[in-house]
Amino acid sequence: MNHFKCCKKCGKSKTLSEFHRNEKCPDGYQYNCKDCINPGIKERARRKREEAKLWSPI
Ligand SMILES: [Zn+2]
Repeated sequence: MNHFKCCKKCGKSKTLSEFHRNEKCPDGYQYNCKDCINPGIKERARRKREEAKLWSPI
């Protein structure tokens, strides 16, 4: 029994296995699918590294 969920970002209906678990969400899954979340995490990690470089103590 596959449950489908509509991704808030790309608007596609995907199986729940395409979503990360999130206990804070009403249905127990993230609003955005893994495909939509992954690039965001990478981008944030990259930006964090850049910031760390700027703010690193001498
Ligand atoms: Zn998506």
